[in-house]
Amino acid sequence: MQLAKRALAVQPSATLKTGQRAQELRDAGVDVINLSVGQPDFPTPTAIKDATVAAIRANQVDGYTATAGILPLRQAVADHLKATQHVTVAPEQVVVTTGAKLALYALCQVVLDPGDAVLLPAPYWVSYSEQVKLAGGVPIEVAPTASLKVTPTQLEAAVTPATKAIILNSPQNPSGLVYTPAELRAIGEWAVSHDLLIVADEIYGDLIYDGQRPATSMLTLGDDIASHTVLVNGVSKTYAMTGWRIGYAVGPQALMTALTTVLSHVTGNAAAVSQAAALAALTGDQAPVEQMRAAFQTRLDTIYPLVTALPGFRLDHKPQGAFYLFPDVSGAMARKGLTTTADFVAAVLDQAHVAVVTGEAFGLPHHIRLSYATDLASLQEAMARLQTFMTTD
Ligand code: PLP
Repeated sequence: MQLAKRALAVQPSATLKTGQRAQELRDAGVDVINLSVGQPDFPTPTAIKDATVAAIRANQVDGYTATAGILPLRQAVADHLKATQHVTVAPEQVVVTTGAKLALYALCQVVLDPGDAVLLPAPYWVSYSEQVKLAGGVPIEVAPTASLKVTPTQLEAAVTPATKAIILNSPQNPSGLVYTPAELRAIGEWAVSHDLLIVADEIYGDLIYDGQRPATSMLTLGDDIASHTVLVNGVSKTYAMTGWRIGYAVGPQALMTALTTVLSHVTGNAAAVSQAAALAALTGDQAPVEQMRAAFQTRLDTIYPLVTALPGFRLDHKPQGAFYLFPDVSGAMARKGLTTTADFVAAVLDQAHVAVVTGEAFGLPHHIRLSYATDLASLQEAMARLQTFMTTD
């Protein structure tokens, strides 16, 4: 049987591929330190689990819910935005999805006609380009400045009459960099001037270090920008709940209604049990969030100087968010006589037994992504291994 062209055009997720290879080595008895992971290494906080168990026992999560999610959860998202970003949205503007990933996918389905272009400032999250393609759209990579961010100048050079949207992720996966409010505003105003939809992926917005917390949301930058913006967020990263699969989109009412209609034929509702868990997360004690954030901060402070000290690794700016470092490794590749980042990543895995992800997957070759969602001792051991790898022939 011949598969559909759109399915054949999709690349498998590089992050998942590296993780799988690391697991294979582990299964074969090799002590691999996995720095390729994209999820917090903490368990979901106990209070969230307890509230979820209570909801199960009370028969509250047995049936379908409204496609856009239970009203208390949509209200909790609106309240959360009010409390943390001072933004007022109606609960009807909130659509709960099976992970932020589905919010992004379904938005592409709702917004894009065949041939519509979407700007993806590089480095960008691996799934954006594939989701755009699956909707018949055309992903347009926008190369960043040396700071690994884009400005309206780069965007202006990439925009065409076919451009319909921009997907901007801040704090950024894979670089951990955070756009400043002024940088966001400049991009927002530029997008409004071209009447583009801004998809603001702020899934790491609570994981901020050394700076103002939470990160400034695109929704806070005035009515013009907000009316062109769909915020995408979720509980996966902030509350260590990747497995529960709850994300959400917040945006203009007409768009959210269309999104709900599409989702009604895809998932129906996000799992009711997970919605109960997300409600408990957003409305419960926020202390565990701060504990996890503080642990990430300690790890970042510990490994940042170690990574910058690795021969041939260049990291000009200390990341301020998420849980990744994205060094330029051109110098390291040259030292090792390797020409592709994929070969470099394979050598690191096979010789240093450290799993990392190639930057190619994020639209920026000659970089690798290191995740510090791993305990401190393992991170230090990984850095020692990388040091040895870089200093032996
Ligand atoms: N956006 C970014 C930038 C991410 O890194 C991820 C997960 O890795 C997601 C969205 C999706 O998150 P989830 O589907 O778990 O809510």
